Amino acid sequence: MINTKYDVVILGGGPAGLAAAIAIRTKTDASVLLVDRQHQGEVRVGENCPPETVLLLKQLGVAKEFYRGGHQTCPGYASVWGRDTPGYNDFIVNPQGPAWRLNRQAFDKMLADRAESCGAQISWSTRFIDAQKHSNEAEGFTLRLVRKSEDRECEVQARFVIDATGSTACFAGKLDINKSVDDELFATVRFSTLAQGRGSKQIQLEAVEHGWCYHSLLPAEKVVSMIVTEKKHLVSLRENEFQGFDDALQNTNLIGSSIAKLDLKESSYHTYCIRPGMLAAAEGSNWMAIGDAVASFDPIAAQGIYKGLSHGLQAGKKVMTWFENREQNNSNFSQQVKNQYGDYLRNRNHVYSLERRWSNAHFWLNRSSNNIDYSQLIKNES
Ligand SMILES: Cc1cc2nc3c(=O)[nH]c(=O)nc-3n(C[C@H](O)[C@H](O)[C@H](O)COP(=O)(O)OP(=O)(O)OC[C@H]3O[C@@H](n4cnc5c(N)ncnc54)[C@H](O)[C@@H]3O)c2cc1C
Repeated sequence: MINTKYDVVILGGGPAGLAAAIAIRTKTDASVLLVDRQHQGEVRVGENCPPETVLLLKQLGVAKEFYRGGHQTCPGYASVWGRDTPGYNDFIVNPQGPAWRLNRQAFDKMLADRAESCGAQISWSTRFIDAQKHSNEAEGFTLRLVRKSEDRECEVQARFVIDATGSTACFAGKLDINKSVDDELFATVRFSTLAQGRGSKQIQLEAVEHGWCYHSLLPAEKVVSMIVTEKKHLVSLRENEFQGFDDALQNTNLIGSSIAKLDLKESSYHTYCIRPGMLAAAEGSNWMAIGDAVASFDPIAAQGIYKGLSHGLQAGKKVMTWFENREQNNSNFSQQVKNQYGDYLRNRNHVYSLERRWSNAHFWLNRSSNNIDYSQLIKNES
């Protein structure tokens, strides 16, 4: 049952929104409602996260559950990138240990359980559709929501709103805050179950003429494989019910030979449009956008889950300050987002510039000549 008034409403129950719910409830007594249009347990993409993720999970109070959650370590990356032979990038000397290959459903459930046990209310299958800002700031916003089970609208008043709706940034859009988008990519993802065979625990990356491929074994005998490319190449991947995708992966060197050793069943295919970019404004006095809503990255960065959790923790700090003393709301979150996005762009451009084998192919040509004006992004960097 959704009440009519909350101190904080969080729109979106991905890693960012769930982390925000935990952080806010741990630091304050604010009443918190989190809504997500998906049902709980829906398949989500993104299962590889860096070693430092564990530090954030400790701050969220879920490290023990995480270690017991059946997630698997990843000793490093094997990549065919910029040359024909594999290179290796291991986590041996990382003080936080190895990276992780997540059981995403268990991971999401762990965060949702923690948020609820901290006192946040979660309403799944509930879509945010509109927002109205009140002129009196103390009244915050009136949000229009639709619950799938009831198929009718309800209105909720929120003193503070957190937009964690992912790259669509639905709430910011209603405030007419736009995202500057600097690329468009399409990821075709195949999730399968491993019937037989053994493979490396390393995550594998491989550049190809029209994009790049990713392959990883996951907990619970699952396997994920992905091809990231431009829109015009989707047609060939979808040919004969994704036989085109299977063939394209089979024709790669490193990943193709790994997949050939596996017997896969129950494959399902999903396509995602990825539009990396950053919102023109990350926050106002009584709202903020976090995770992919404020800044979404190319998946080559593999930082989306980490970024979401870390922004969720920062939302906890901002809301606490806001409730304690509204006059002193000197958050530096906006500047952090800009700095983070500048770092991401530099790294992403460096990674793409390493691949020169297909310098005439549109995918690589388009990305190596991507002259981004960093000065705009980082001009206030101290
Ligand atoms: C193909 C692909 C592969 C990726 N692989 C990785 C990876 O291996 N590692 C990694 O770290 N990152 C990866 N990412 C990125 C990662 O998935 C995201 O960065 C991360 O999920 C962002 O978390 P978030 O909570 O900000 O947003 P999301 O996880 O996108 O969550 C947003 C939530 O908001 C909800 N929502 C949206 N609109 C509404 C609405 N109107 N009303 C209510 N709810 C709404 C959605 O249902 C969703 O649950 C990948 C991304 C893609 C596309």
